[in-house]
Amino acid sequence: MRPRIAIIGAGIAGATAARALTDLGHAVTIFEKARGPGGRMASRRTARAPDAPSFDHGCQLLSEDADSLPAEPWTHRLASIAGTTVTEIAERTRPVPTPRMNAPAAELLEGIDCAYATRIARVQAGTHSVSLSTESDSLGDFDALVITAPAPQTRDLLERPAPSIAERAAACAYDPCWTLMLERVADAPPLAYDAAHVTDHPVAWLCLDSAKPGRLAAGPHRWIAQFGAEFSRRTIDEAPGDIARALLAAAQEHLGAAATLAQPPHRWRYAFVTGPVGEPCLAEGRIVAAGDWLLGDRAHHAARSGAAAADAVASMLG
Ligand SMILES: Cc1cc2nc3c(=O)[nH]c(=O)nc-3n(C[C@H](O)[C@H](O)[C@H](O)COP(=O)(O)OP(=O)(O)OC[C@H]3O[C@@H](n4cnc5c(N)ncnc54)[C@H](O)[C@@H]3O)c2cc1C
Repeated sequence: MRPRIAIIGAGIAGATAARALTDLGHAVTIFEKARGPGGRMASRRTARAPDAPSFDHGCQLLSEDADSLPAEPWTHRLASIAGTTVTEIAERTRPVPTPRMNAPAAELLEGIDCAYATRIARVQAGTHSVSLSTESDSLGDFDALVITAPAPQTRDLLERPAPSIAERAAACAYDPCWTLMLERVADAPPLAYDAAHVTDHPVAWLCLDSAKPGRLAAGPHRWIAQFGAEFSRRTIDEAPGDIARALLAAAQEHLGAAATLAQPPHRWRYAFVTGPVGEPCLAEGRIVAAGDWLLGDRAHHAARSGAAAADAVASMLG
């Protein structure tokens, strides 16, 4: 019988591991608490229609060395802004997945059994198997588990079944990040840049999402504003509804009053890992942990970790 592998998380680490193990002939099932794939390589449609405009409200652009992930080059005007003063604008090219940021995970998972809207609440380890359950149901026994949840969630799930992994996960901290999805009427005064790194201001990053390759360009321009680590740490426990007005006012200092909220603010509690483990994956018994918190705070680190986890499972099962 083919080995049965469970994977927690349909982000890029989980999707990479799932594809590699499926290609090796294993029977893979993904359990993902969200309603679709991508994790923090996230996209949100503005309406239910499949071709509705969307926002990349998590990962923005890939690094030049993210060569394992399918993407198209995006040449854009990148500004440096200090406070609200633009100090430099330069042309840059970076890879961007199309038509949405979650496309690489969705493509990797084609044909693989994915249980969405399924939050794993308990992991139990036996000598030759691992069993998983939600709050209400047992999901059965598997020959191995790959867990790709961010470190704090991995720590909570593995405290009893894999204490040595839980301990390493407990040492990993993350910076949070408030993110705004904004619309700016197309005939508003144009800006001199398509993306900007901002310092000395609550906003840290601005990006003209609708100008990325493969995105729907018609209608209002869609902007993303991400808030910096220091500001986000201080305010992350506020309710999105309570902080929305202050976040919008800060973004409008750059984008003007023509920018309005298209969606409520999105709170990323675990956005960027600040102290990665420095090993591609961690194994204990039949459980392997992977994700960006192993190798670094970028999507390609997560993908590399997922690939390493698949190798570890394959050699564990012989
Ligand atoms: C705002 C923001 C901006 C970013 N910008 C960039 C960028 O520009 N470039 C870049 O390279 N990287 C960027 N990153 C980082 C990049 O998105 C991540 O490093 C990468 O996507 C992490 O992938 P992962 O698979 O390790 O984790 P995740 O994508 O977090 O996937 C883990 C999955 O596990 C699921 N999960 C967790 N617990 C459970 C459970 N109990 N049961 C079931 N499912 C569970 C989660 O729902 C999630 O889908 C950004 C991240 C954020 C948040």
